[in-house]
Amino acid sequence: MPELPEVEAIRRHLASTLTNMSIDRASVRRRDVIRDLGGRRRGRLHPADLGVGRRVEMVDRRGKQLIVRLEDGIGIVIRLGMSGRLELHPRGSRSTSPHRHVVWMLRGAGTSPETRLDFIDPRRFGGVHLAQSPSDLEERLLAGLGPEAHTIAPETLYDRLRRTSRSIKTAMLDQSVIAGVGNIYADEVLFAAGVHPNQPANTISRPQVKRLADALRVILQKAIEQGGSTIQSHTLPDGGVGNFASHHKVYGRGGLPCTRCGDSLDRVVLGGRSTTFCATCQGVHPHG
Ligand SMILES: [Zn+2]
Repeated sequence: MPELPEVEAIRRHLASTLTNMSIDRASVRRRDVIRDLGGRRRGRLHPADLGVGRRVEMVDRRGKQLIVRLEDGIGIVIRLGMSGRLELHPRGSRSTSPHRHVVWMLRGAGTSPETRLDFIDPRRFGGVHLAQSPSDLEERLLAGLGPEAHTIAPETLYDRLRRTSRSIKTAMLDQSVIAGVGNIYADEVLFAAGVHPNQPANTISRPQVKRLADALRVILQKAIEQGGSTIQSHTLPDGGVGNFASHHKVYGRGGLPCTRCGDSLDRVVLGGRSTTFCATCQGVHPHG
C-alpha cells in the first residue's frame, strides 16, 4: 500500500504534468470506485462533478491521499488503497489494463497535446472522491487526519501519543494520530529510533519521541527523494519505480540478520499487521 513517500512521489510527477491543464473529458468505467458529492457510491454523476471544464490549479497531498485541486474550490481526492495507481499517457496510446476505472483527458494551453490520466485499481480498495467546495474537502474528506508525519514536531508527537495506551506501532498507523505512515515506514522508523513496536504509546519518553520524530523526518524524506519503495503495485505515473526498498533495514527482512547487531530479526503479528523488528536493538521496553 502506498504510504506518504510513494504518494508524494506520485504527486510530484502529476503536478509537473497536470498543473494548468484543463479537463476536457472524463469517463467512468466502474461507478463504484467513485464517491460523489453526497459521499455515495451510486447515483448520477455529471461531467462537471469529475472536473470537466475546469483547470487544474495544483496537485496536493494530505497523508496518503492525493488531491487534484481545480478552479472554483472543486477537488478530486484520490485514495490509492491497496493496489491503486495513476498512469499518465499521451492521447491515443492504448491501455492494456482491464482495471482502468476512471479516465480523464486533459489539455494544456494552445496546441499542446492532450494527456490521459488513468485511475487503475485491480482490488478496488481505493477510490475517487469528489468535493464541491473547499469546506466540503476539509470537512468531509480530510477532517480527522493528524499532522503530516515527515514534518511533525517532537512536542506535537509527544502530545498525540500521550492520548492512547495502544502500542506505538498501532498508534503510528492510525491516520488520526499522524498522517502518512503505513506498515513499511512504521517498522523502519521504530527500528531507526530503537523503540520496541509493542511499547504502549503513552509510555514513550521524551528522548524516545525525539528519536521517533527525527527518524520520521529523515527516513520519509529520503524515501521521497528515492521515489518511494516499490513493492508490489506501486509505480510512478510514467511507469517508473521507486528505489527506496533497497534501503529497508527491517521491513521484509524477518529472519534475516539485523544490520546493526547481527541477531536474527523477529517477525510477529501486532494489531493485525505483520511487524518486523530487532529484539536486541529495540529492547525489551519497561512496560512488558
Ligand atoms: Zn539488532
